[in-house]
Amino acid sequence: MLKGKTALVTGSTSGIGLGIAKALAAVGANIVMNGFGNVEGPRAEIAAAGAAHGIQVVHHGADMSKPAEIADMMAYAASEFGQVDILVNNAGIQHVARIENFPIDKWDAIIAINLSSAFHATRLALPGMQKANGGMGWGRIINIASVHGLVGSAEKSAYVAAKHGIVGLTKVTALENAKSGVTCNAICPGWVLTPLVQKQLDDRAKANNVSMQVATAQLLGEKEPSVQFTTPEELGALAVFFCSPAGNNVRGVAWNMDGGWVAQ
Ligand code: NAD
Repeated sequence: MLKGKTALVTGSTSGIGLGIAKALAAVGANIVMNGFGNVEGPRAEIAAAGAAHGIQVVHHGADMSKPAEIADMMAYAASEFGQVDILVNNAGIQHVARIENFPIDKWDAIIAINLSSAFHATRLALPGMQKANGGMGWGRIINIASVHGLVGSAEKSAYVAAKHGIVGLTKVTALENAKSGVTCNAICPGWVLTPLVQKQLDDRAKANNVSMQVATAQLLGEKEPSVQFTTPEELGALAVFFCSPAGNNVRGVAWNMDGGWVAQ
């Protein structure tokens, strides 16, 4: 379905970004990976997912808090594949503290990585997407927001502010391109068991002096009626839907996949 297209997925060395990169590779997209840590293991997973289509996988290690590095990454993607057809703004971090105790550097880092990076990657990807398909435009921008783009939780001020911001950015990007083949939508997951959430589970188990099993049941039970994690594979399937012809006129939505969290 996406053979010949190129998807750039920020923060795709781990968790949700890796799951989405594998899902897009499995339907034929070449992948530009980004993110820190082990690159070769995730790169092999993505390449294996797309092996039947002979896809290519490259990596750029831009720090998404740095606009100049984001520009370098977008130029690298264009030099490797011509242009970026699908942009998944996924890289993100978390820090948990009450506002009066929230470290200023953590606030700045979360706003830069979870929100401003999406603006920079989007503004650089759009001109190529708008020219595609003989000037009719073709492109998909998928912003990984969160249920915290729709509702708040205590002690997550920077994260909730950034995620509400990215839902707003999604709507404006969709509206500015509504008459073209470029769509922009947000995905709003509830709990997904990735390293980002594992840290919160570890902190909870330690603070409450309970086992990991009890900490997990507490975490899910507080907010997620299904008492189940959403998986990176499920989120990958939603991203593939947005990229499919059936997604042509899905514009500016914030689609939660959250076990009923926001329905309450
Ligand atoms: P994760 O920690 O598993 O992965 C984060 C990825 O971002 C990694 O590849 C990491 O290297 C990369 N990254 C972090 N800082 C970066 C930087 N400065 N520059 C470049 N890359 C950077 O986390 P995850 O849970 O997969 O989160 C991915 C996205 O999904 C985030 O935006 C997060 O807010 C969102 N999200 C996660 C959950 C969840 O429950 N895990 C729920 C809702 C939304």
